[in-house]
Formats: sequence, structure tokens, C-alpha cells
Amino acid sequence: MLVLFLAMLAPTSVTLDVPIYLVAELKPSVLAEALEETERIFEPGDIRLEFDLAPELRSTRPLAFVVVQARPARFKVSPACSRGLHDHRLGHTQLSSRRLTLWTEQVARAVDGNWDRQGLPHVDDQVYARALGRVLAHELGHLLLRLNGHRDGGLMRPTFSHRSLIARGRGAFRLSADDLHAIRAALEGIEP
Ligand SMILES: [Zn+2]
Repeated sequence: MLVLFLAMLAPTSVTLDVPIYLVAELKPSVLAEALEETERIFEPGDIRLEFDLAPELRSTRPLAFVVVQARPARFKVSPACSRGLHDHRLGHTQLSSRRLTLWTEQVARAVDGNWDRQGLPHVDDQVYARALGRVLAHELGHLLLRLNGHRDGGLMRPTFSHRSLIARGRGAFRLSADDLHAIRAALEGIEP
């Protein structure tokens, strides 16, 4: 009886369907691992992400959609770049259109850590996937929290260091309990 009672109290998971439009070339295995990393970051809040890699035209606008591109169309020097030569943006979220953009070449450079290198760096697939997944989770956080700014720490902090992006553990990419709660509430609100 107690078991049944506890089961009834346990929160059920909420699911977000996320179409992905792949413009940049990305190995399927890297993409799959990246999306798994993103899913894991939302798991503690019982928030499930279902990524649709072959999206068809929908009658209703999705709550979020992802475009995977190589690099930003317009170069913008990052304030984090002391030499003023590099664009360090890794991803972007447009709250009004619900569009998330993930820039694969930029993330590869961040993983490599050497922005001065000519040409694309060769990075370890597993580490690259991990970094891509973390950047995507951050952008999703902006959208689901309707957050234009950033938090002091965790997933929604303003910048990711090279070291934390490639680290095996994802402790530095947690969402706070309040943020997880807010995301759940937002997703439950739109479910029929
Ligand atoms: Zn951000």
C-alpha cells in the first residue's frame, strides 16, 4: 500500500519535443552523443527531451527548434577575446521565434582551446559531443526559462571555460532546483 502511495506522489515526467534542422555537417554518432548529454542535464527535473532529427512541416509552431550551423553568418568579436580577433559565440537563442542555434565550428574551436589555429581543429569526438550537448542545454535553458540574462553559476552562467566544457563530469552544468521547477511548470502549463 505504501509503495503504491509513494508511486502516486512521484512526479511524472514532462516531455518536450524538439525538432532539429541540421545545416552543418556533423557525424551522426557525435550528434547522438551530444543530444544525450543535453538530455542528461534536464533529467534531474524529470524533464524529458525528444529530439526529432527528421522534422516534417508542422501545423503548430514547436515550443523550441534547433538549427545546427557551422558558424555565425556575421562575425562579432567577443568581449572575452583579448586580441579582438575571434568570435567566441557558441550558440544563440531567439526567445521570440523560439529558435536555438548551435554553431559547431565555434564549439570545436572552444574544445580545441586554440582560436588562432588556421583551419578546423581535430577534436576528440566524445569530448566534442559533450561540449555541443552542454551548449545546447544552455540555449534550451534560455528558452524554457524565458531568460534573457544569466545566473551566477551552473548551466545558466554567462560563459563556459575551455576546461569545464571538456571536463568529464557535468557538475558545473547543473540547473538549480528553482530553475528545474520553473521549466517543469512551464511545460506542464502547455500540455493538454
Ligand atoms: Zn547564455
